[in-house]
Amino acid sequence: MEYCIFCKIIKGEIPSQKIYEDETTYAFRDINPQAKHHALVVCKRHVTGLADHAALPEQELAACLRTAAKVAEMLGIAESGYRVVTNCGSDACQSVAHLHFHVLGGEKLSAQMA
Ligand code: 5GP
Ligand code: ZN
Repeated sequence: MEYCIFCKIIKGEIPSQKIYEDETTYAFRDINPQAKHHALVVCKRHVTGLADHAALPEQELAACLRTAAKVAEMLGIAESGYRVVTNCGSDACQSVAHLHFHVLGGEKLSAQMA
């Protein structure tokens, strides 16, 4: 595997503002928030993105979404609402090639998806 910043964050080799962690997922604050609350949920197993879903066991893929929902609860935005987004590939401007889900909320988000 080439250098992967999210693998380094998961291992604690690069600091992050951790929100939540379990056996298969890790959640932390995005360094460049696009909303009042902006968290990233990553699977601990290195897969490059959603297009690489076949490399991820069913339970681990599901765990990412469950962690996203838990993170929203922990951030106090579960009731006001939030958005979960994953960018996949170059047209979506994915910049880190390790599957991750953005959790955005804490303020009114644009009705547009992009
Ligand atoms: P993408 O563009 O791949 O969907 O999202 C990558 C996200 O990772 C971006 O929102 C970016 O701000 C975030 N990011 C990149 N490097 C770091 C880092 O070192 N620490 C944290 N906390 N977030 C990062
Ligand atoms: Zn990785």
